[in-house]
Amino acid sequence: MATYDYDIGIIGGGAAGLTVASGAAQLGAKTLLIEKEKELGGDCLHFGCVPSKTLIRTAQVYHTMKNSRGFGLPTVQVPPIDFTNVKERIQAVIASIQKHDSEERFCSLGAKVHFGEPAFVDEHSIRLNRETISAKTWVLAVGSSPDRPPIEGLNKTPYLTNKEIFSLDRLPASMIILGAGPIAIEMAQAFCRLGTKVFVIQRSGQILTKEDKDMADDVMQVLASEGVTFYLNTSVLGVKDLCDERQVLLKGREGKTIGLAAEELFVAMGRDPNVQGLNLEGIGVEFDRKGIKVDERMRTSQKHVYAAGDVTGKFQFTHAAGYEGGIVVSNAIFRLPRKVKYSFLPWCTYTDPELASIGMNEKRAREAGIEYSVYTEAFKSNDRSLAEGEQIGKIKMLLDQNEKPLGVQIFGPQAGELLSEWVAVFNGKVGLSTLAAAIHPYPTLGEINKRVAGLYLSPKIFSDRIRKGLKFFFHLKGRACGEE
Ligand SMILES: Cc1cc2nc3c(=O)[nH]c(=O)nc-3n(C[C@H](O)[C@H](O)[C@H](O)COP(=O)(O)OP(=O)(O)OC[C@H]3O[C@@H](n4cnc5c(N)ncnc54)[C@H](O)[C@@H]3O)c2cc1C
Repeated sequence: MATYDYDIGIIGGGAAGLTVASGAAQLGAKTLLIEKEKELGGDCLHFGCVPSKTLIRTAQVYHTMKNSRGFGLPTVQVPPIDFTNVKERIQAVIASIQKHDSEERFCSLGAKVHFGEPAFVDEHSIRLNRETISAKTWVLAVGSSPDRPPIEGLNKTPYLTNKEIFSLDRLPASMIILGAGPIAIEMAQAFCRLGTKVFVIQRSGQILTKEDKDMADDVMQVLASEGVTFYLNTSVLGVKDLCDERQVLLKGREGKTIGLAAEELFVAMGRDPNVQGLNLEGIGVEFDRKGIKVDERMRTSQKHVYAAGDVTGKFQFTHAAGYEGGIVVSNAIFRLPRKVKYSFLPWCTYTDPELASIGMNEKRAREAGIEYSVYTEAFKSNDRSLAEGEQIGKIKMLLDQNEKPLGVQIFGPQAGELLSEWVAVFNGKVGLSTLAAAIHPYPTLGEINKRVAGLYLSPKIFSDRIRKGLKFFFHLKGRACGEE
């Protein structure tokens, strides 16, 4: 029987790789973790979730300061922000989380960490820092990078991606954002609130294209009301460096050409899998433009090589990467043939208000040919929401023909947190009557979950038939006011 240096080797120290490494090492597998950057943590910690949510919170506080009148407070003249202080705060938050993702911590769990860029020399061995290392099982958790689209002039024009945007030396006066996915939209609102004039360019007629149009349009309206300018149905003809500014040439739906210039250009038009340099072709691991191909057990075309996280091109979220990492541990270490199931994978776009989703929305239900009914409840009917000064947003619940929940979308204050109750409902197969009957504290935003479940149940409880039955059996006298 062949012997290997390690039971399992993991390439990439982000959300997916760290999940596999900690699980495998703690279960007693001799584990190697390889990371090409100087520190562990991956995109989420250094250039993604953590810096973006920190920036968003700073922008929210600044926005609230500027809108103090709305809370019955004196109007304050807030001075412009100094981005170096914002950057410092972002770095401080990253540094405190970094401790959790340190080499020392992983060593204490039992995993050996190596830094460098490996390449496979055969199906079980890599070459790393002039050393050849073998492992019985490999995991590719190398993540993704911002897509660099083939736009005329882009390769000669300085532009920002998520790698640079959180470490700017000063707040740009203006910014053109190419793309209107979650990253683009979150940054559009945050920078606009901080004082940047923001323009968003989107090829299709909707932002956040995975979401239902009504929900995405609500998000867009909020951002537009705060000052973000949207160009929908608009394609980019080319970009140009004007030294102090970047110019973007656009073509609108009517064929009109528009020239737009701004201090910074932020490109957020999708993600590319990090497959280069590993010699995956050489060992027969199949991949395409979207990512490494995996089966439901996260195995690649080489069954002893797994892939997880962004590099598979599926659901590019930290929690998806962590979930897939867990599936790899089950299959590779426990030898349990566990398969991925994404039906109840939730996500959230962290605009203010947030847009959160679980299960099917109308778009996905229609695509799947599933008949559904929709129940909605507005945040302006939620007492806590009004007390918080939040009047915008709604919850939308989809039921199938058997009146079982198909999905829920929430656009409103703390929607990501509110969605957690639905995570439990869907995964625990909790009935709507249980949710509607459960006591929720008053006044909370969470009451909206109970209310939308009640919306479906109340016509059944307060029906004519029930009323007539109760009247008959218990001799109730009927209405005390108004007509029957
Ligand atoms: C601006 C932004 C905001 C985001 N916000 C959220 C959010 O709020 N919530 C959410 O769920 N998701 C968010 N995401 C997505 C999230 O960051 C990713 O889904 C997540 O990081 C994927 O984890 P991963 O382990 O697959 O990849 P990564 O975290 O990118 O880790 C991959 C690691 O592999 C390393 N690597 C790459 N190539 C090699 C190589 N050849 N050799 C060795 N090491 C290599 C990389 O350096 C990296 O450390 C955001 C992303 C961005 C860009």
